[in-house]
Amino acid sequence: MAHEDVKIHPAVDNGVKHDEKPNFSGGTLTCNCATDKVEVKISAQTAHNHICGCTQCWKPEGADFSQVAVVDRNAVEVTAHPEKLKVVNEDATILRHACKECGTHMYGRIEKDHPFHGLDFVHTELSDETGWSAPQFAAFVSSAIEGGVSPDRMGDVRARLNELGLPPYDALSPALMDAIATFTAKKKGVLPA
Ligand SMILES: [Zn+2]
Ligand SMILES: [Zn+2]
Repeated sequence: MAHEDVKIHPAVDNGVKHDEKPNFSGGTLTCNCATDKVEVKISAQTAHNHICGCTQCWKPEGADFSQVAVVDRNAVEVTAHPEKLKVVNEDATILRHACKECGTHMYGRIEKDHPFHGLDFVHTELSDETGWSAPQFAAFVSSAIEGGVSPDRMGDVRARLNELGLPPYDALSPALMDAIATFTAKKKGVLPA
């Protein structure tokens, strides 16, 4: 049975677009304000793009999931209206820099010692350019319930994600969970550094 009626996120609801371009060099993210938009220039291709069900990632109006990717923090530059940016939650691991006026998260940065330190979290749907890496999986799917999705809908949500070719996980993908565990094991001396 098909589940096209189950809405996940506007970027994937009509099918995942695989329009990654080789040697893609990035683009500019803009916030949703009508004027004086915050602009963030990303001068690299993103990686690990995915759909996320956690309650902290920014979601477009009406969506139950976000779409988020990572990119080298050195490739991220605020090019317009930095004065409108504010960190959403100073205590979170990922410091999400959002526009104070429209609430759009422009980039998330990790400042503490963490396996993903050095990578910024960005929403490439905020750019007009095509060629970004496509979403590959869905993370923290069960957390969508904490965002207000009824638990009885989760079977359909997971079925739809599988139909879209976005395997649903209740944490990050196995590759990323392994990367985190490797970082921790090296820190503890269980594995050679
Ligand atoms: Zn804004
Ligand atoms: Zn998230």
